[in-house]
Amino acid sequence: MKWNRSHRLFKKALELIPGGVNSPVRAFKAVGGNPIFIERAKGSKIYDVDGNEYIDYVLSWGPMILGHSNPRVVKALKSAIEKGTSYGAPTAIETELAGLVNKAYPSMEKIRMVNSGTEAAMSAIRTARGFTKRDKIIKFEGCYHGHADGLLVKAGSGATTFGVPDSHGVPKSYAKNTITLPFNDIDTFRKTVVAGWREIACVILEPVVGNIGCVLPRPGFLEALRKITLKHGIVLIFDEVMTGFRVSFGGAQAYYGIKPDMTCLGKVIGGGLPVGAYGGKKEIMSLVAPEGPVYQAGTLSGNPLAMTAGIETLRILSKKGTYDKLSKRMQQLEEGLKDASKKAGIKTRFYRAGTMFCTYFTGSDVYDYTTAKRSDTGLFARFFINILRQGINMAPSQFEAGFISTAHTIKDIDKTVSSVYKVMAEL
Ligand SMILES: *Cc1c(COP(=O)(O)O)cnc(C)c1O
Repeated sequence: MKWNRSHRLFKKALELIPGGVNSPVRAFKAVGGNPIFIERAKGSKIYDVDGNEYIDYVLSWGPMILGHSNPRVVKALKSAIEKGTSYGAPTAIETELAGLVNKAYPSMEKIRMVNSGTEAAMSAIRTARGFTKRDKIIKFEGCYHGHADGLLVKAGSGATTFGVPDSHGVPKSYAKNTITLPFNDIDTFRKTVVAGWREIACVILEPVVGNIGCVLPRPGFLEALRKITLKHGIVLIFDEVMTGFRVSFGGAQAYYGIKPDMTCLGKVIGGGLPVGAYGGKKEIMSLVAPEGPVYQAGTLSGNPLAMTAGIETLRILSKKGTYDKLSKRMQQLEEGLKDASKKAGIKTRFYRAGTMFCTYFTGSDVYDYTTAKRSDTGLFARFFINILRQGINMAPSQFEAGFISTAHTIKDIDKTVSSVYKVMAEL
C-alpha cells in the first residue's frame, strides 16, 4: 500500500494548519506515522487520495451509523440545499427533529439544537449551574465532554481534590470548580457528594465511556449516581453525544433504564453534518434564553441542512429491525475478534455496548481510566499500522471506540476478522 499523495498533502497542511489537522486525534500521534488523506467514502468503505480502499470502523468518530453517503440522506440533502442553506429564522424541521429526539429520549422534554457536542455539554452545564445556583461540577476520569475550559481538567492529587488544568490556557480558577473522580467508584462519589453537595451543580458523565475505548458502567453504578444526585438536588447530565443512538436507539438511558435530568447529543443526530443538542426536564430547560436567564445562542444553530440530515437518519434508524440487524453484525465481529486474538496468542479484552466497541491490548479487566491505561500501546501501534495496510481503518489510538454501521456486510466482517488474525499472528 502506497501513501505518497497523502504524505505530500500532509506536508503542505503542516505549513498552514497546526499539526496539519483540524482535530488532534486525526494526526496519528498516538501510533506514529502520517495520517491518510481521504478523497471520498461510500457505505462501509472509505477511500484515500492514493486510491486505497478501507473498511471503515471510525465512521467519522461515530456519526455515520448508516454508512457513508447513504442514498436517502444524500437525496434529502440535495433537495434541501436548493431551498437555501441558512436563514437565521425558525423552520418547521427544527421542531420536527426535536420531536424525533424527544420520542426516543423522553427525558429530554425540551431541546435546544447547537452545532457540536462541545457546545451541547458546555451549555448543559451552564444551565445546570443556573438552575441550582451552585458552581462546582463533578466529572469522571477518562470521560470527554468536548473542549470547553472547565472540562479540560484532570484529577488533582488524591481522588477527591479539585482538578488541575489538562491543557495550557485553562485558568486554574476554572479548573478549581471541576471535581474529577474515578469512573465506576460509587464510594468515592458518595463521600464527595456528602461532603460538598451544597456547592455541586451537576454530575456529567458518559454512561458508557467511549473516549477511553469502551468502558461499561458496573451494575449499580448509574443507579447509585441517580439516587445520590436526586437526594442532594444535583443535576444528573448524561453526555450521550457518542452513546446516543449507538448503545440503543434510546441511548444508554433506555438501555440501562436510568432517567437523567439532562442529556447531551451530537454525532449520530447530525447524520454527518454538524449538530449537537441538549435538553432535559422542562423546569430546567425553561431557564434557557429567551425563555429564561441562562444565555446561549448560535448563528447556524438548527441549520436546515443539518436538521434534514438528522431527520432522515433518525427516520431510517427508527425502522423496525434496524438495531437487531446491527446487533447481529456486532456480535459476529465480537466473536471473530475475540477468536482471532485467542488463536494468535495476543492477550486482549474486548468490550462493546450496542454498536461501539474496543479491543484493549491487555490481559486484565478494564473498568476505568487507570485500568484502560494498562494496555500495551506499543503493541497497539504496531497492530494499527499493519491492519491499516490490510485495508481496515481503525481509530489511530488504543483509547478510542470503534463503530459499525448498517452498511457493514457479513463479507466486511469476515475480511476484517481474517485480517486481524493475520496481523495479530505476526505481532
Ligand atoms: C465527541 C464527543 C463530544 C464532543 O463533540 P464535538 O462534536 O466533537 O464537539 C462530547 N462528548 C462526548 C461523549 C463525545 O464523544
